[in-house]
Amino acid sequence: MTKLLVCPVCKSTNLDLDTGGYTGKYKCKNCGYVGFAIEMTEGEYKEMLESEEVPEMKEKKVKKPEDIKKLDGIH
Ligand SMILES: [Zn+2]
Repeated sequence: MTKLLVCPVCKSTNLDLDTGGYTGKYKCKNCGYVGFAIEMTEGEYKEMLESEEVPEMKEKKVKKPEDIKKLDGIH
């Protein structure tokens, strides 16, 4: 399973090792955050992105039965 390193600030996976990995910290190329990254699988990452979606949008999506079916297919 592929592990992703995720920036805890902006949820970007565009991270680089800070100072060549010597400190064990990462630098986010997206927002400039430097520190420890969250390590998670692709599945966990997708779940996180879905759960952090704008709630209004998600509610609209699941109103129709066919949309509920689509969501079930993803999970
Ligand atoms: Zn970031």
